[in-house]
Amino acid sequence: ERKPFIAGNWKMFKTAREAMETATALVNRVSDVTGVEVMIAPNFTALTAVYDVVRESAVRLGAQNLFWEAEGAFTGETSPNMLRDVGCRYVIIGHSERRQYFGETDQTVNKKIKAAVEHGLAPIFCVGETENDREAKKTFSVLDKQVQNGLKDLRSDDVAMLVIAYEPVWAIGTGKTASREQVQEVHNFLRSLIEKKYGNELANSIRIQYGGSVKPNNIKALMEMPDVDGALVGGASLDADTFSKIIHFQ
Ligand code: 13P
Repeated sequence: ERKPFIAGNWKMFKTAREAMETATALVNRVSDVTGVEVMIAPNFTALTAVYDVVRESAVRLGAQNLFWEAEGAFTGETSPNMLRDVGCRYVIIGHSERRQYFGETDQTVNKKIKAAVEHGLAPIFCVGETENDREAKKTFSVLDKQVQNGLKDLRSDDVAMLVIAYEPVWAIGTGKTASREQVQEVHNFLRSLIEKKYGNELANSIRIQYGGSVKPNNIKALMEMPDVDGALVGGASLDADTFSKIIHFQ
């Protein structure tokens, strides 16, 4: 049984104080939630402040990125240990915005996933096709490549810690949600890739989130699909009330 997992990616929004305020409101609004795992990923500068707010609640803390080395002369980077140290359980890896604007490749994504699992951080591994890919009917080949390269040399034990987030690039921040049939088709495909590489048991236990313009009014329909195990929410996670509505989708 896969526990639904709703995560908020706050991207480059909110100062530490603002993040603390939203996190406080969220903790209050979701204190009744038991059957859904909840995570928020604030900016690095807000992680410590937000951890103080969520540490005694069921809300988990995640980071939006990491670097694969443990320490060293890598100006501007943050190691897995440092993220563990401030209370992170999860880390988002390979978000399309990082691939698009910050030069991340399948190879750096692979290194980051390895570093995360080695240090006990659960990666939220993001994959997704662009609008051009979809129009050219390359969705499945693009996703296949992202998965094969991203998970290169990872053992089953490592992959067991993983969450996959399917985020079609054309649906991020655009208000265009993929139809739930499109989402189901891709999630089923992703699960089949995991099955081929790691077997049935792991494929059935791995959680696959959908991301891309998830809102209170479309979450329920998405969650009804058999291979949709949660959501990675951007814009609609920034407001505690709206995000709480998504978490209370049932
Ligand atoms: P939006 O929910 O704002 O479309 O963003 C999705 C996303 O990128 C989550 O990581």
